Amino acid sequence: MRRRLIFAFLLFGAIVLAVLWLFQTVWLDDIYRSLKLRDLEKCAAELNAAASDFSGDSYTELNDAAGAIASKSGVCISVYEINDIGAAKTGVKIIEQHMNAFCFIHNIGSSKLLNTLYKKAAAEGGEVLEYVSLSSIFSPGNNRDGSGENVILVKLVESEGSELLMLFNTELIPLDSTVSTIRAQLIYISVILLVLAVVLAVVLSNRMSKPIREMSVEASKLALGDYNVNFDGGNCTEIDNLSAALNKAAYELSRLDKMQKDLIANVSHDLRTPLTMIAGYTEAMRDLPGEATPENMQIVIDETNRLTSLVNDMLEVSRYQGGTQKLNITRFNLTDVIRTTIERYAKLREHDGYTITFEECGDAIVDADERRLLQVMYNLVGNAVNYAGEDKTVIIRQTVSDGYVTLEVIDHGIGIPEDQLPLVWERYYKVNDFHKRANIGTGLGLSIVKNILLLHGAEFGVKSRVGEGSNFWFRLRLSDESEVPAETKE
Ligand code: ADP
Repeated sequence: MRRRLIFAFLLFGAIVLAVLWLFQTVWLDDIYRSLKLRDLEKCAAELNAAASDFSGDSYTELNDAAGAIASKSGVCISVYEINDIGAAKTGVKIIEQHMNAFCFIHNIGSSKLLNTLYKKAAAEGGEVLEYVSLSSIFSPGNNRDGSGENVILVKLVESEGSELLMLFNTELIPLDSTVSTIRAQLIYISVILLVLAVVLAVVLSNRMSKPIREMSVEASKLALGDYNVNFDGGNCTEIDNLSAALNKAAYELSRLDKMQKDLIANVSHDLRTPLTMIAGYTEAMRDLPGEATPENMQIVIDETNRLTSLVNDMLEVSRYQGGTQKLNITRFNLTDVIRTTIERYAKLREHDGYTITFEECGDAIVDADERRLLQVMYNLVGNAVNYAGEDKTVIIRQTVSDGYVTLEVIDHGIGIPEDQLPLVWERYYKVNDFHKRANIGTGLGLSIVKNILLLHGAEFGVKSRVGEGSNFWFRLRLSDESEVPAETKE
């Protein structure tokens, strides 16, 4: 990381220097000249526009416009009105705006020079550029070097029947000494940039890599199964986020590890108990005369069923986790299906003193997987029975509103502590660690319920208070044909 950062910083410095070098030394003169020429062109265009609007007898207005243009751009301006005197042309100066006392056009004294400029401009289609040096004898076009170089834009325009010769003059200051100063400066800048790049790269790479190095030490511990790790944040949001994600992953891994251990303990307990019973009863029936009673046989059958449902639950959960479980969606009357199933279930439970009631309010036609929804109901009602309170009452309430059917399974039992509520939907989760075989399942039921409801895109949840009971609910969309109003059915 350090080497890469140093390289990146050096590369950046080199690019900055190269750009500076090109603009400040190699191209400086060209850029300077082209800017100056652009200034002249701009002044010429502006004065030309003013001249074309001009319609007075005196040139005062035009002179004012030229003054404004000259003072804005620092360009000297002279304008001559051209007259014919015999075959030769001569000019009368009508405008004079000078920003620089040493400009060339100040010093055009002879009409011969003016005549030469006029002819050149006329020959070039009305516009020509001249480079002259104050120190040399005026000879248009032959001198681009030497100090005090002036550049003159000569422009010939027609205005109100008269011919105007416009001269725009700017001075080109030699840049040689500036360029050599900048070159010397650039050498110092290069050295400073180089040192800064290396120092910055070292400091930054240290700051950035320190938390990453620490994190990789912790990650190696985690890989070896030590969940007691802590990923410290760095100095930037990305590393903070990464360490938060790793801390969460470590926490989840440790939780999963605990769950797995619990599962092995629970499952082996759940498997061992019925197996011991089956082995015990069948041995007794084999060895002891008179033990092969229907009651004993029933115990063996019950224990076998318990084993089957345990194995089935585990298989089902693993299928949901693998994402291979598909729904078989059909349109059916959910109310009818729940009513008949609950009636049957309630009858079975009546012997143990349970009261299971179904409060309905209208038919609910849904597009769903009938078998899976019944499985949801069986799991929720089974739990409500298992954890029901003294009153041994379970209420199944169905309400229909706004195109949705809501089913609630309510008991008045032990309830669930608030902090455990979100966890009950997780695999193998049990609120109490103690194992009460008579009514505690595998901890898979609600995980199966959650997966089925998620596949249906249904909302679901639980409200519960310790000692007062629980209310497990889910909400399903009614099918489009489900138009039976709630009030008409009762
Ligand atoms: P289990 O087979 O253990 O009932 P579930 O996944 O169905 O597994 O439920 C997970 C845990 O949620 C249960 O062990 C129990 O602690 C709690 N639970 C579920 N339903 C109820 C309820 N109606 N009342 C109180 N606790 C409940």
